[in-house]
Amino acid sequence: MKSTIVIIGGGVGGLGILNSLSTTINPKKHAVILIDTRPAYVHLISSLRLVVSNTDNLITRSVHPFGDHTFLKRLKGVGTFIQASVSEIKFSDDGRGGMVILDGGKTVAYDVLVLATGSTLPHPIAFPTKSTEVIEEYVKARQEEFASATDILLVGGGPVGIELAGELRDVFPSKSITILHRSSLLLNPVYPDRFRVAIQQQLEDRHITVLTGDSITLSATSMDQVPKDGFVTDKGRTLKPDLVIPTWGMRPNTAYLPSDLLSPTGHVKILPTFQLVAHPDVFAIGDIIDWDERKNASKIVHAHAPKTAQNVLLYLHLMASRESAKYKGSTEMIMISDGKLCTSGMGYLDILWGIIINGWISSFSSRDLAVSRLPRFTGYTPV
Ligand SMILES: Cc1cc2nc3c(=O)[nH]c(=O)nc-3n(C[C@H](O)[C@H](O)[C@H](O)COP(=O)(O)OP(=O)(O)OC[C@H]3O[C@@H](n4cnc5c(N)ncnc54)[C@H](O)[C@@H]3O)c2cc1C
Repeated sequence: MKSTIVIIGGGVGGLGILNSLSTTINPKKHAVILIDTRPAYVHLISSLRLVVSNTDNLITRSVHPFGDHTFLKRLKGVGTFIQASVSEIKFSDDGRGGMVILDGGKTVAYDVLVLATGSTLPHPIAFPTKSTEVIEEYVKARQEEFASATDILLVGGGPVGIELAGELRDVFPSKSITILHRSSLLLNPVYPDRFRVAIQQQLEDRHITVLTGDSITLSATSMDQVPKDGFVTDKGRTLKPDLVIPTWGMRPNTAYLPSDLLSPTGHVKILPTFQLVAHPDVFAIGDIIDWDERKNASKIVHAHAPKTAQNVLLYLHLMASRESAKYKGSTEMIMISDGKLCTSGMGYLDILWGIIINGWISSFSSRDLAVSRLPRFTGYTPV
């Protein structure tokens, strides 16, 4: 009988492991099931450009529906996609498989389970889940919202706030755009001050106002509503935007797991083999893992996914004699685009004394945001 590998989440981690398995798996011995709440892979790296305008026809190029084409090479014809949200896992005590419970009560049995459910996303990239048509409507509504605003306030100066400001400036050269950030420098202290200062300078050179060391309180129920008299910041400034966008608040998507498997921040506690401490037949990768690193797609695709794919097959074949692949962390690196038209964008690579990347390398990456490489990753060619 075939053993079943179930992967929850068809984002960077889920498709990354699927692609790694597609070159190593024996389709006569294994079946693979991919479960995702959404009907499509949404490319987060280009998502901020997508919601600002229809530049480069991103609505068709950044949203790739799941289907038979998702299962490549040896997985062709042996993979199944289920569109559903996972609400609970019934683990076994002996590490020999269990049951995934879907919203609505249906169940899916697994021999090995991979959790890759990523992070909750801030408005305006909290894409809906129902259908690709509904995702398209959501994108159009965001584009219209930006087009009709004249004074836009972005709350939070992390990568999302910074990149969104750059995309907006590309399309709307004369709108007022402000980033409000609680700390005295943009981003967070993982990065050196000289990088954080340089990013701010680049934004200001594009006439984006950056207010640091100040904040406003957004009510949880009306995060994107502007009060009639505007906002008064903690430092007493009055801001009267006609559109406010919270850009913070990404948290691990792990509400379907019991709290004893999670760290206080909601991340999944794992071993260096990506196995859950209490459940050797369950693996977790991507944004949800409790590992001291800044999560990003390149670490997940190049390290988390291939190592986990190897360990999944070792586990299923009971090849205890062969050593599992262990994760030792990855080099810290970040690329922050500043729109497509800006000649720079900026990156930071944590090697040697810490290298700031700008000039043609960062502007090259900002231009395409890896969209043209997507079909190789998702198996889907936009028409
Ligand atoms: C705006 C933005 C820009 C970024 N830019 C870069 C960049 O330039 N370079 C870089 O390396 N990284 C970048 N990142 C980070 C990178 O995109 C993430 O680290 C990566 O997507 C995380 O992969 P993942 O598989 O953990 O989660 P995701 O890719 O988010 O995939 C999670 C999947 O799980 C599904 N899911 C969630 N909950 C459930 C459930 N209960 N049941 C079923 N399915 C579920 C979701 O629908 C989703 O498809 C960016 C992120 C954002 C938000």
